[in-house]
Amino acid sequence: MNTTKNETAQRLGIYCHIPFCVKKCGYCDFSSFAGQSRSVIDDYFKALWQEIKRFGRDRFNLARSQAVLPVVDTIYFGGGTPSSVPAAYIEKTMALIYEVFSVSEAAENTIEINPGTLSPKKAAIYKAAGFNRISVGLQAWQDDLLKTLGRVHSQADFIGCMEILKAAGFDNISVDVMYGLPGQKLADLTKTLAALMAFSPTHLSCYSLILEEGTPMTKMVAAGQLELPGEALERQMHWTVDRFLKKWGYRHYEISSYCKPGYQSRHNLKYWDLSPYLGFGLGASGFWGGVRYTNGQDLKEYCQLLATGKLPGTFEPMMTKEDLMSEWMFLGLRKLDGIDDADFREKFSQSFFVIYQEAIAALVADGLLVTEGTILRLTPRGQDFGNQVFMAFV
Ligand code: SF4
Repeated sequence: MNTTKNETAQRLGIYCHIPFCVKKCGYCDFSSFAGQSRSVIDDYFKALWQEIKRFGRDRFNLARSQAVLPVVDTIYFGGGTPSSVPAAYIEKTMALIYEVFSVSEAAENTIEINPGTLSPKKAAIYKAAGFNRISVGLQAWQDDLLKTLGRVHSQADFIGCMEILKAAGFDNISVDVMYGLPGQKLADLTKTLAALMAFSPTHLSCYSLILEEGTPMTKMVAAGQLELPGEALERQMHWTVDRFLKKWGYRHYEISSYCKPGYQSRHNLKYWDLSPYLGFGLGASGFWGGVRYTNGQDLKEYCQLLATGKLPGTFEPMMTKEDLMSEWMFLGLRKLDGIDDADFREKFSQSFFVIYQEAIAALVADGLLVTEGTILRLTPRGQDFGNQVFMAFV
């Protein structure tokens, strides 16, 4: 493997999108497809491997002329359901990333899996391929809620999945939980969290359900066939999660993320810190050299482009200093520790207290932000009105 101990080089994250699922969930608008044939999956991975190789060769040539090469210190395979495809595809993709890039020996390498799609053999292959962190999509403990969501797995599948992971030697496991679900009671959420504590996850991502336009669930809610908990109950659920997990020793470090000390998602922190990362695969996006790019969402087109020697990706214009400052503010404020003006000054040679003086004063007066020396962060009330805070810096 092409690993490096060079810890002074610029750090880089890599995201790989695997857009296949066993079945489409009722609320999902992610770039993912169910029921694809083996040949479609095969074509996709061939295209993905081309993208990784050609990006490394064509676009990284620039970086290769730099004195110090960037070091990849986080790799994240998301989807979709990466565990729904034969593990050999994942193994080969990971090996290729190590071949093309310089990867830190201490890299955090995460793969998302869904219960019901993992076998002991797959888990062993992931481990041997270099994955050291697993993100499991549970969402809810109750089978009836899983059914409402259109998930393919049951509670028993989740338990089986966790047993396979522990037996394979994975001890850094994150679990996804959703709240604000149709028919969900506060007691269901508390039961979900309590049941999870038996598995000692190092990290939990807790999301409120968002109804995306055009999904079957959105249509069912609009037709009155499903009823969402009201806003007050949804907020009560958020604060129940917060109290429960803090009591169990988890740290709330980002709006939707809790971790045991030292187990923050280093990859996700890159998004909130405005650090560089490359995205490969359908619909993936990247941020490199002050430029954002996004790959298209059309599976056929993605495969055809790469089969004909072209690279996908629409590149946005180089971000201006104002764009960078604004993104640094609203992404950074997602972190519960807040943002430090000393870091902002180091990056932009100005103070955010001067540039965003009016916005900060208004949000502090509203009780949504608080300052502590050079630190600016969300208050508990700010968590409830996060969008209002973030929009103030756009
Ligand atoms: S498993 Fe995830 S990506 Fe796949 S359909 Fe369900 S929500 Fe979407």
